[in-house]
Amino acid sequence: MSNRPRFSVVAPIYNEEGNIQPLYERIRDVMDSTGESWELIAVNDGSRDNSLPLLLSLAQQDKRVKVINFARNFGHQVAVTAGIDFAQGDAVVLIDADLQDPPEVILDLIAKWREGYEVVYAVREERQGETWFKKFTAGVFYRLIYRITDIDIPLDTGDFRLMDRKVVQVLRQMREHNRFIRGMTSWVGFRQTGVRYVRHARYWGETKYPLGKMIRFALDAITGFSYFPLQIIGHVSLVMAFLAILAGIVISLLRLTQGPEFFGGQATTIVLLLLLSSFQLFFLYVLGQYVARIYDDVRHRPLYVVASTTGFDESELAIDSPTPPIEMQSQSGEMS
Ligand code: UDP
Ligand code: MG
Repeated sequence: MSNRPRFSVVAPIYNEEGNIQPLYERIRDVMDSTGESWELIAVNDGSRDNSLPLLLSLAQQDKRVKVINFARNFGHQVAVTAGIDFAQGDAVVLIDADLQDPPEVILDLIAKWREGYEVVYAVREERQGETWFKKFTAGVFYRLIYRITDIDIPLDTGDFRLMDRKVVQVLRQMREHNRFIRGMTSWVGFRQTGVRYVRHARYWGETKYPLGKMIRFALDAITGFSYFPLQIIGHVSLVMAFLAILAGIVISLLRLTQGPEFFGGQATTIVLLLLLSSFQLFFLYVLGQYVARIYDDVRHRPLYVVASTTGFDESELAIDSPTPPIEMQSQSGEMS
């Protein structure tokens, strides 16, 4: 297929000057061993150290290295997105630049891709060289996301993964601003599988994900893939209504048996307060349901993703199906 490379490797770079040379060398050795063509797309996410000049000189020496240089720091997920947008390969690999994800694992990802999987994610078996706090927060984070989101996001996977071009093309249509890429790739569908690996310590430098950024990231994940926080308002409202009714009954009974003065005026206030709060929460819940639907619409995610079609003429498909990308249409009938 023309001069598109077979594989694209995308690495986001934010102040990683000490990692760039070893990262390049290890990726080069691994990718050369596949015997196929490849490109390395480094996205410089507004680094303030020497990362950019280092990347540019690599790009001069080796034409397979390409650099996207952001005007400022836009964040990890956006940097990865730019790499995905520019990647030309039949399969695109996302990898962190700090060598926590060993490039050698890419070979395992490729092997699974060759078996026919469209998404192969790398699952962390253990994490080396990270503080207990990072491990703990990451552990809680993944388990929470796993529980409350609508889609099936595998436990303990980061962005280290391989995606087929078909998946990449759907991702390119998902232009939502608060991005949680591992959720988005899972949302797309197709055949997905995991490969286990040991996550190493950072080769050089410090994490660019302090607690504040982690919390924001978790919020993006939850709001991007779950209406749980909006749903819960409805539950709280129900509980309050139940308590109001219960309190009403109990107080009435007590007053009937113990005399009308029992509990004084307080009791009526409590019951009314519970009832009113319940009403208010209920209407907040209703409002939330509308907001959720607006949110669904403004994100402009594709309504559906077609893996293959059977029995259509090529010409019919070209006219009538706006959503699936052109390239997927040409594979009609492949799977049946
Ligand atoms: N990164 C980025 N922009 C940012 C923060 C991080 O491009 O604003 C890159 C960073 O250079 C690295 C990857 O994202 O390649 C993962 O970051 P990091 O290793 O600091 O995260 P951790 O592994 O600690 O979760
Ligand atoms: Mg890291």
